[in-house]
Amino acid sequence: MSFNFFVKSDIEFGAGAIKRLPEILKGYQARKVMLVYDGGVKAAGIADVVLAAIREAGVEYVIFDGVIPNPTNEVVEKAASIAKEEKVDVFVAAGGGSSIDLAKAVNVLMSNPGSIGEYGGMNMVKNPLLPLIAIPTTAGTSSEITNVSALIDTEKVIKYVVIDNNLVPSKVIADPEFTKTMPASVTAATGMDAITHAVESYISNMATPLTEYNSLAGLKIFHANIVAAVKNGSDMKAREQMMLGCIITGFGFSNANLGMVHAIAHTLSAHFGLAHGMANACVLPYVMAFNAPSCPEKMVEMAKALDLPVSGDTEKDMYLLSEELLRLIKELGIKTISEQGIKEEDLDMLADDVLKEPVLGFNPRQGVTKQDVLDILHKAF
Ligand SMILES: [Zn+2]
Repeated sequence: MSFNFFVKSDIEFGAGAIKRLPEILKGYQARKVMLVYDGGVKAAGIADVVLAAIREAGVEYVIFDGVIPNPTNEVVEKAASIAKEEKVDVFVAAGGGSSIDLAKAVNVLMSNPGSIGEYGGMNMVKNPLLPLIAIPTTAGTSSEITNVSALIDTEKVIKYVVIDNNLVPSKVIADPEFTKTMPASVTAATGMDAITHAVESYISNMATPLTEYNSLAGLKIFHANIVAAVKNGSDMKAREQMMLGCIITGFGFSNANLGMVHAIAHTLSAHFGLAHGMANACVLPYVMAFNAPSCPEKMVEMAKALDLPVSGDTEKDMYLLSEELLRLIKELGIKTISEQGIKEEDLDMLADDVLKEPVLGFNPRQGVTKQDVLDILHKAF
């Protein structure tokens, strides 16, 4: 056995963790902070809480509140030009994956030449980055601890990733209180994204004992808490578990990578702007049924971990997980592909683009054909 397992996170976890921010900023000898967030974070009152902590540290700041879901190269370049002009030396990103991914990408351009599109792929970022403090307000993407920034190239109409260990945020402030105001639909979508990360990384052909350990633990936590958190956003026990599960799952999938669900989701988001979690959730059960024959034992292990009624017959038990995921997305009210605005005539083009996704290379079932993708899209339609 031989493998690499990389983690580089420094996490302040728990209710009230935001109180540590002034001290952290002073520790970095910050002179000018860029605070990155979106409208939802502002509306929830979280931006003001973070801003108060930055003011308490007595450092200058500039705000970038132009974050959009599925951030584009153009938004990254715009934020980077402001950050350079303002001589920003520390980033604070408060929000979901979009805010944190955007801050990571902007940070790349502070110390590395050229435009962000040149950094797509793995290990392209040569120079170290400025400190970035990630304050997640959702429990799903794990962007706060990963080395990934997912962006949209509007010219090529693709969602692509910048993957480099330099991108891992230097500090995480994981305060479950910040997830309390998340709308139920966002809790469901981001939570299903995390479940997708757990499941896809567990069966990835890059999985190792350390990633499997994290992926399975994350899956159990999310499965046990997602319905409670969606039905009652103030259930702080469930919220805390989800935030914890998100970090645990992140350690797994950031090392084992993902698979066919994300290949489809990236394509749906690039062409039709679907929210990432929703795009994953609506195809997840069908992709898992498709993958089951390529990794039956692992499918049974996941079913057992979730206390699903295994019979001992692997041929049947390997589908228990996909059946449970289908039940779950229905209970959570996840919309079908057509309910998310996609037309039947779009499916052919989408299937062609799914096959171009590099993340397919980590899927346990290889040799995926256009017809395979079309079958899944029709089932999820
Ligand atoms: Zn994801």
